[in-house]
Order: sequence, then C-alpha cells, then structure tokens
Amino acid sequence: MEQAEQILKSRKVPVTAVRIRLLRLLEGPGKALSRREIESALEGEADRATIYRNLRALTKNGIIHRIPMNGMPEKFKLAGSSQPKDHPHFYCAGCQRLLCLSAGLINTGKVPGGFQVQSTHLVMEGLCNQCNTKKAK
Ligand SMILES: [Zn+2]
Ligand SMILES: [Zn+2]
Repeated sequence: MEQAEQILKSRKVPVTAVRIRLLRLLEGPGKALSRREIESALEGEADRATIYRNLRALTKNGIIHRIPMNGMPEKFKLAGSSQPKDHPHFYCAGCQRLLCLSAGLINTGKVPGGFQVQSTHLVMEGLCNQCNTKKAK
C-alpha cells in the first residue's frame, strides 16, 4: 500500500482518487503548496470546488495543515505524525521549503495570567541550515 493510501486509512478517511493525488502532491520533506499551486497541478483532473472541499476535509481530519503565511497565500502541508497540532514552522527564503519545528519552541505557559491560548500560528522566516551553509561558502 502506498503512503497516501495508508495515511487516509489510518485516519479512517475514505480513500478517493482526488485525496490520493492531493497527498502525493504534498509528499516530501518541506513540501508546502498554496491552493493556487495545487489547483494548477491538478488542472484537468479535479475542479476547484472538488479541490477546495477535499482540502477542507483533510485539514479538518488533521492530515493536512493549513499554514497562514506572512505576505503570501496560505500554504498546505502534509501533517507530520509526530507533531502536535500547534507547532511553529520555518519558511526558508532560499529553498522555499516550509519545515515543521518542535512545539517546545513556543512556550504557551508564559502568557499573562488569566489568558487562555486556543491556537498558535507561528511561522519563522529565514534561511534553513542547508541554504545558510551554501551562502557562507
Ligand atoms: Zn533552505
Ligand atoms: Zn508542521
């Protein structure tokens, strides 16, 4: 069984051709796409409404993350199995990868007394270790 199908089955989400295509598109370390990029990749295979509906369903099931970005359209990313729901991301301006970072980098215990954190969306921007070493050479 391929990875995409396995992910859907493990979350008890019905396996459909469009869902498999969506997950395959997003496979790979650091891979994250905007809705427009997904739409153009699936052009002729699925219409916008179908893509939208499936992205929403997969996001709701926690299989895909929707990541709000600074100054650019939000991106969709395959959720890592080991990461809790709210963890920071790092966007590399060099290779355009969007990487999951450890949830421990955000200390929600430090908010003022009486505040209750319901969700966090942190995207750090800069250069990843690979691009940073390239630059130094
Ligand atoms: Zn990079
Ligand atoms: Zn992530």
